[in-house]
Amino acid sequence: MQEQYEKAGKIAVEVVEEGLKKITPGAKLLDVANFVEELAVQKGAKPAFPCNISVNDIAAHYSPQAWDESTFKKGDLVKLDIGVHVDGYIADIAKSIIVGGGSNKLIKAAEKALENVIELVKPGVLTSELGEVVENTIKDMGYLPISNLTGHMLKRWNLHGGVLIPNIKTRHGDVINEGDVLAIEPFATNGAGRVVDDANAIIFRYLCDRPLRMKEARDILQHVKTNYGDLPFAERWISNLMPRFKLNQALRQLAYSQAIYAYHILREKERGMVAQAEHTVIVSKEGCKITTKI
Ligand code: MN
Ligand code: MN
Repeated sequence: MQEQYEKAGKIAVEVVEEGLKKITPGAKLLDVANFVEELAVQKGAKPAFPCNISVNDIAAHYSPQAWDESTFKKGDLVKLDIGVHVDGYIADIAKSIIVGGGSNKLIKAAEKALENVIELVKPGVLTSELGEVVENTIKDMGYLPISNLTGHMLKRWNLHGGVLIPNIKTRHGDVINEGDVLAIEPFATNGAGRVVDDANAIIFRYLCDRPLRMKEARDILQHVKTNYGDLPFAERWISNLMPRFKLNQALRQLAYSQAIYAYHILREKERGMVAQAEHTVIVSKEGCKITTKI
């Protein structure tokens, strides 16, 4: 089990590093998305969720659609968030960069918060203590953590294994135990410190079978249930099944019927810039081991 987590971690970090090199002025988001997901497969893993490529004030859940023409611009703050799994054992990693080179203080704040939390992780620590460290680190650097985004426990085939790792001090805390696998992901912003749902969703997850009026919706539901199970999928991954118009209509019906869950694109409330840093760790006797580190 630990072995597969480490294999997934190694692949995830290699994929992120290679993916970041492709994020240059003028490059298409779509090309980077296809590149990293194919690379993960070549290396012997599978995507655990569609790669998230979130730019500037978009915090998460952006994954280009098959017809997406958007490109990176010099100075964009890009978060590349990758999840891969080996036989259901997941690694989740994210890094932020400035397109055209360099870093900035906001990115450093997210990275520093992640570093400080990881230092504190060990059996017995409370998730509220971890959140407090994230909040203090980011505030000390002059920014705000995003209070309504969290890290999460990972379980086999399950991206959100119950326990959440807050990015702020919370009143309630869960106890961290030896053997827990955690994705820790501080987000820092110069905006309001909250994200709001955008109207659109391009990442989804199968929930359950429902009676559906539209044949195309029934076809999609069967397809995603068979191919992705409980793990999220991108609209891009099923765009070859039917024309774009039908696909949109079917996905809307599926989400409305609660046969699938729609991950809305998350945007900073005041359109502040957002930086993210994420690693996956396995809690050990004395501390933790980062699986997503070379
Ligand atoms: Mn992630
Ligand atoms: Mn995560």
